[in-house]
Amino acid sequence: MANDYRRMWESLGVDLEAHDQLLSILPPTFGTVYMSQENRPEGMEYFNFVFSEVHGLRIQELQEHKAKGGKVIGAFCVFVPEEIIRAAGGICVGLCSGAEIGAAKAEQVLPRNICPLIKSFMGFKLGKVCPYFESCDMVVGETTCDGKKKAFEILNDYVPVHVLETPQMKRDKDKELWRSEVRDFLAEVENFTGNKVTAESLRQAIKDINGKRRALLRLSELRKNNPSPISGKDCLLIEQISMYDDVPRFTVQLNALCDELEVRVKEGNGVGKQGAARLIVSGTPMALPNWKAPHVIETSGAVIVAEEMCTGLRYFENLAPENGETVNDMVGDIAARYLDINCACFTPNKPRMDKLVQLAEEYKADGIIHCSLAFCDPYLVEANRVEKALQEHNIPLLKLETDYGQEDSGQIKTRVEAFLEMIGKK
Ligand code: SF4
Ligand code: SF4
Repeated sequence: MANDYRRMWESLGVDLEAHDQLLSILPPTFGTVYMSQENRPEGMEYFNFVFSEVHGLRIQELQEHKAKGGKVIGAFCVFVPEEIIRAAGGICVGLCSGAEIGAAKAEQVLPRNICPLIKSFMGFKLGKVCPYFESCDMVVGETTCDGKKKAFEILNDYVPVHVLETPQMKRDKDKELWRSEVRDFLAEVENFTGNKVTAESLRQAIKDINGKRRALLRLSELRKNNPSPISGKDCLLIEQISMYDDVPRFTVQLNALCDELEVRVKEGNGVGKQGAARLIVSGTPMALPNWKAPHVIETSGAVIVAEEMCTGLRYFENLAPENGETVNDMVGDIAARYLDINCACFTPNKPRMDKLVQLAEEYKADGIIHCSLAFCDPYLVEANRVEKALQEHNIPLLKLETDYGQEDSGQIKTRVEAFLEMIGKK
């Protein structure tokens, strides 16, 4: 099987040597971060398996889809309406960009001081290390931040990129612009896949994606219990996998895990020590395999109970209505659903502050850790607004700025431990 996979990667144009380097890092990291946890739910078995086959089975499925004439479309942001891609018979995959690979190559076309996420996706593409990227027939970008916006122009030299113009405000005229962008996107996807989106296919795609989001919401609800029946690290892994796994299969497996967690809750069987700090992590998305900060936080004795991030609640907290009559109605519903995302690209972004206060209360959190990637202007600057809002509600906050390297793990640990001491949970 391993040989078949190598042949498959080679046929995709993946640089096998660089890819071997990536694969040699991943399993040990996964072992240290995930398999070392105690009292993990049995239902995590499926997600361990999906991760162990991250460049194997799922890539094979994508190739089978392509062999039948299907298209694979990559996305970097939760603003990409995956319902539309699905309705046109395409597969949407979230491209991860969570590892420091190919940085030297990326720096040939990008400035050195740019956020690690942008550097990572450029490095993955230029270094030909990611079989997902190499499987993509098209990539969908957005204008959420200047770095990404300009980097997509460069990326377009290597793979066709369709850029969605995401507004920066949420006024009526912005909503109208975004609706027209989603409408144009639908036409582009129809053109690209050669498949017409019908009212029926779009309604079904909305239901399928809502099913996935509902299962993720169910998982979140279960974490409101004290003790939480599952670790934050496991939930982050599930949220990361939700971006690329087969939709119905993922939904069934996650619901099965939630059934198990319900039993755990009834039995009072939770993770973490009795009285462990309950923390919410907020900020820039943590793309696969970026588990650094959650690992440090949870090995310092706290339990993460929610992620106010795009690899987290921002991805699944809103659902699109399932009763649209026409394609046009549903495009409007989908556009509205996506514009409710509280990304730091919006100004002002009071709904995100309100959401954080609300989450702290609902999840009975002892504090919030705001985690930004270095050079990420939207989140680093917005951290000030977050601090102000949380201060007004006496919610303790720790602000972290980090990257994909491991060098600062010790420093982060010291700061997390000091924070836990400060909130009386150490
Ligand atoms: S943080 Fe903003 S730009 Fe980044 S994935 Fe989320 S919505 Fe997209
Ligand atoms: S992490 Fe920040 S700077 Fe990087 S792509 Fe996302 S919003 Fe842009």
